[in-house]
Amino acid sequence: MTATKDDVGLATEWRRRLHANPELLYDLPATTGFVVDRLREIGVDAIETGIGRCGIVASIHGRGRSDRTVALRADMDALPIGERTDLPYASRAAGRMHACGHDGHVAMVLGAARRLAASRDFPGTIALVFQPAEEGGAGAKAMIDDGVLERFGIAEIYGLHAMPGLPIGHFATRAGALMASSDLVEITLTGRGGHAGTPHLADDVVLAGAAAVQAVQRIAARVIDPLEPAVVSLTCFHAGERENVMPARATIRGTVRTLAEATRGRIETEIERTVTAIAAGFGVTAEVRSTREYPATVNDAGRAAFAVEVAASIVGARAVDGSTRPMLGSEDFAYFLAERPGAFVFIGNGASAPLHSPAFDFADAAIGHGIAFLCRLAVAASERLHPLA
Ligand SMILES: [Zn+2]
Ligand SMILES: [Zn+2]
Repeated sequence: MTATKDDVGLATEWRRRLHANPELLYDLPATTGFVVDRLREIGVDAIETGIGRCGIVASIHGRGRSDRTVALRADMDALPIGERTDLPYASRAAGRMHACGHDGHVAMVLGAARRLAASRDFPGTIALVFQPAEEGGAGAKAMIDDGVLERFGIAEIYGLHAMPGLPIGHFATRAGALMASSDLVEITLTGRGGHAGTPHLADDVVLAGAAAVQAVQRIAARVIDPLEPAVVSLTCFHAGERENVMPARATIRGTVRTLAEATRGRIETEIERTVTAIAAGFGVTAEVRSTREYPATVNDAGRAAFAVEVAASIVGARAVDGSTRPMLGSEDFAYFLAERPGAFVFIGNGASAPLHSPAFDFADAAIGHGIAFLCRLAVAASERLHPLA
């Protein structure tokens, strides 16, 4: 089953319409309306909306009944970035744009749905999962908390993401951790403050903060195994208003990225321990708060190898990298992979602007490859899941 020109042409049109009308997080009335209208035209068997606030699941039944389903996921939300392109289909919404290619992800999954609904040549059911709020809103988690995996009997799940720098017609993934966990850390230092001319009568939260920032860098450099990726970036430091006043409070914030749960926990503990000790040395008090955001995106080894095999059958083995370097960006598809086996796969976006850049555009030339890959992947996964059908 390969994508016909018709599927690709339609999906390209859909992609451009989505691109022109970007919406954010869970506020996706036009996008979800558009997806539901297309699914109705395509003639899927069932459409359920409002899952995890505004997620959508469409089901397509193949031959034979089964309560086990293979799912393909697309994220629907855009970013609060003002688009700077001259595209005829550029964003019509000021300050919002599809800068992460989710317009392309939706279009490719819709294109695959059209093809699968026309053929039905697979056992069991294939579900198309359209999720809200990938960009910082944990929409995947919202859908899981709403029971999406159990309600639709999802046994395996796969997702595609556009990747700038990877040539068009190429795919890349890896077994194990592909993308990082992402956590926030917020440090508040509190002291007496006072007159800048009489520092002996005050506490210096700025000096304590500067020492804390330096000391925290020791964690990635000296505490964590050098072969284990870890980033601790403290990116905000706020204290003081006037040159002659020693402030009573400083806040420092940043992000922590890792590929392994053990590393994640170790960094959390070490930041708290280090900052508390430094603060005590300076006679100020420290409050350290870590907020866990997305976990690491960890591909099931077998399913990643399977996805590589499927991609190679479409574009040739030389265009598929099965052991790509992990990235320290994060992705909420991680929540699905924490619950069900599956794989997250990058699809080449060619020499485009980077993700989250105001000049980014999803490459329409990738759509045909994406549809062909998703269809063959879903069908082959269903056949493996239902060997007797
Ligand atoms: Zn993004
Ligand atoms: Zn994205």
